[in-house]
Amino acid sequence: MRSNLPPCATSCAAAQLALFTPPPAEPPAVPADTFDWDAHDFVVVGDSGGKDSGALTHEVCTQAEKVGQLHKVRVLHVDLGRTTRGHLVEWPGALEVARAHAEQYGVPFAVRRAARWASLWDRILAHGDWPGFFARYCTSDTKTVTGRDFADETGAAMRLGRPYRAGYAMGMRAEESRARAMKPVVERHRMSGKGTKRIVTTWLPVHHLTTDQVWQLHQDHDIARHEAYAAGMRRLSCRACPLAHTDDLIRSAQLNPDLFDEYAAAEVQMGKQFKKSISLREIIERARS
Ligand code: SF4
Repeated sequence: MRSNLPPCATSCAAAQLALFTPPPAEPPAVPADTFDWDAHDFVVVGDSGGKDSGALTHEVCTQAEKVGQLHKVRVLHVDLGRTTRGHLVEWPGALEVARAHAEQYGVPFAVRRAARWASLWDRILAHGDWPGFFARYCTSDTKTVTGRDFADETGAAMRLGRPYRAGYAMGMRAEESRARAMKPVVERHRMSGKGTKRIVTTWLPVHHLTTDQVWQLHQDHDIARHEAYAAGMRRLSCRACPLAHTDDLIRSAQLNPDLFDEYAAAEVQMGKQFKKSISLREIIERARS
């Protein structure tokens, strides 16, 4: 049976959440599940172009509009760059879908890359081994730092003369895993302790939604969706993710043969198997059979 847990359920988003994780002793400063728009200068919505992001942007913008705060919303897409042979690490078109989400609600859309790495591919090659459940440098060194830098950029542009107060909305859902089900919907804290230039509240506005409800929202509100879903994929972000379920990787290899060939060559070059349970060569063989 295929797991319903997307790879980034335990990596990308978790790492992004970790960025804002407060010291354990620090008590929550806001009610458990209410996001206080008045207490924040702006809200960054992390939109990968996937289905949860579509529901997320809809939910944030709908709530913002109801309370007259839509002007505070910024949608951010983190571009993961290209491989050595020029293949996009992400699904082609994911950026455009994220842009369509922002345009649907008339809010600013930004695309940023990690300052240090031209692409996630470069980061992987520099690391010399693939990302894994216990090596989530892929998200922390690309998406996480980029989200933080974008929040800093936005806060600096406001010239507030005090630490900015930002919401950081992510598409984690309780249904995806037990660990996620236990995440607080709203958790406000300082990112780097007292006296820094930022105060950030993590917010999980679609935490309560099931996958069916996510798709129903797309249907009801005509939200843009990536064509890879119709081709059999259940998630987007990286086209070849070591944390993905093997069945999804096989389908992705069928849809992205050139990219998988490049990854397989890197697997041989690095001498590190892509996934503990299966190599890229085996994934490709199964995709072709
Ligand atoms: S490889 Fe890509 S999709 Fe997989 S966990 Fe890392 S950033 Fe997310």
